[in-house]
Amino acid sequence: ITEAEQAVLDEIEEKDVDFLRLQFTDILGTVKNVSVPARQAEKAFSEGIYFDGSSIEGFVRIQESDMRLVPDPDTFAILPWRQKEGSAAARMICDVYNTSTGEPFEGDPRRVLKNALERAEDLGYEVNAAPEPEFFLFEEDEEGRATTKTNDAGGYFDLAPKDLASDVRRDIIYGLEDMGFEIEASHHEVAEGQHEINFEYDDALATADNVATFRTVVRAIAAQHDLHATFMPKPIPKINGSGMHTHFSLFEDGENAFHDEDDEFNLSDEAHSFLAGILEHAPAITAVANPTVNSYKRLVPGYEAPVYVAWSDRNRSALIRKPAARTPAASRVELRSPDPSCNPYLAFAVMIHAGLDGIEKDLECPDPVRENIYEFDEQKREEYGIETLPSNLGEAVQALEEDEAIYSALGEHVAPKFVEAKSQEFEEYLVDVSQWELDRYLETF
Ligand code: GLN
Ligand code: MG
Ligand code: MG
Ligand code: MG
Repeated sequence: ITEAEQAVLDEIEEKDVDFLRLQFTDILGTVKNVSVPARQAEKAFSEGIYFDGSSIEGFVRIQESDMRLVPDPDTFAILPWRQKEGSAAARMICDVYNTSTGEPFEGDPRRVLKNALERAEDLGYEVNAAPEPEFFLFEEDEEGRATTKTNDAGGYFDLAPKDLASDVRRDIIYGLEDMGFEIEASHHEVAEGQHEINFEYDDALATADNVATFRTVVRAIAAQHDLHATFMPKPIPKINGSGMHTHFSLFEDGENAFHDEDDEFNLSDEAHSFLAGILEHAPAITAVANPTVNSYKRLVPGYEAPVYVAWSDRNRSALIRKPAARTPAASRVELRSPDPSCNPYLAFAVMIHAGLDGIEKDLECPDPVRENIYEFDEQKREEYGIETLPSNLGEAVQALEEDEAIYSALGEHVAPKFVEAKSQEFEEYLVDVSQWELDRYLETF
C-alpha cells in the first residue's frame, strides 16, 4: 500500500466515510458509479473491484465483460452534498483494467488521455490544461423536469439583485472548494441564466477529472435549489450557447515551454507549432470536442463561438486565441471550440495529440487574423486561407474518419465505437421531424 493510499484510508476513518463511490466514464463522458462500503477501500487499492463492463456504453463485447476498477488515491474527495452527522460518502476516480490480460483497458477514456500524456512526456513535456465551462440554470416544472425557463435576467458580469442565481453559484463554488477545486473566477455569462466558473490550471489528467466532477457537482447543487443545470451547448436558439474554452501550455523541466520573451506574441516556436497542429487537425478534433447534434447550433457566426479555422492574439471570433499573459508561466493558447457536452478525457487527448503532431512535424504557424472574421465574406476568407469548421455532426465524424492522426489518437477500441455511436446519433437526427419544420410547413403546404 502506498503513502497516498494510506492517507485515503486514514481520512476514511477520520471523517466517518461509510460509502465509497468508484467512478469512471464511458465513451460519451457520462460518469458511472460503483458504490462499495468504505471498508473495502484497502481491497480496492490492492486488488481492484470487479464489475461487469458489458452494460457500459462502448466498453466491451458481452463475451469479455469482466473489468477491474483500480481507484486513483489522488482523486479521493468527500461528496459535500451527501454529508450528514457521523457519516459521509466519498468518491475516487478509477483506472479500468482488463481482467483477462491484466493490462489497462484501452476503452477507458482516462487511458486514452494518459496515452496522449505519455507521448508528451516522451518529448519531455508536461501538459497543463484549464477549462472555462459555461452552463445554464433553468427552472424545473411541477413534476421536477427541466424547462428552458431561466430563473434570472442577468447579463455578462451582472451583480445581484439582477443576478438571482448568485446564491446558487456561491453554493456551487463552496461545494467545488470542499472537493479540492481552486476556483479562479466565476461570473454571470452573456445570456440570461448562463454562468461560467473557471478553475485553476492543473496537469491535463487532473483537469479532465475535474471537468467530470464539475458537471456532477454543478448539477447536484443546482438540484438542491430546485434548478436544472445543463451543459447542453445550445439550449436556446438565437442567444449565446455554452462553450468550454480550453487553455493549454507545455512545461519542460518546470518551465513554460510556450513562453518566449522575444517573440511578438510571447509564444515560443513550440507553442507556434502546437497551435499549427491544432489548426491542421481542427475539423477532426471537432467531432470529439463538439460531439452532439446540438453542438453545431452553437458553432455559428455571431454568438462568440468559433466557426473559422484561424488564430488571433486580439479578437474572439477565431478558433484559437492567445490570451494576454501576466507572467511567463501563463503564456498559453486557448482553444475556443470545445463545448461542455464533450468527454473531457477524449477531447483533451485529441487536442494534445494534434498539438504534439504540430511540434513533431515542425508545422509552420500561419499569421494571426486580427479582424473580426464573422464579417468576412467567402472571398476574403479564401484570400486569407481560412477554412470553416464542420457544420454538423455528420461532417465532423467524416473529418475524424479521414484524419488518421486524430482517429488513431482515440485508440483502437474507442475510435470505431465513437464513430459508430456518433454516426447513429446523427442519422437518428436526420430522420426526425422537428418543431421548426412543423411550424414552418404544416399549415403552408
Ligand atoms: N458563450 C460563448 C461560447 O459559446 C463564449 C462567450 C465568452 O466566454 N466570451 O463559446
Ligand atoms: Mg471566460
Ligand atoms: Mg465565457
Ligand atoms: Mg475564454
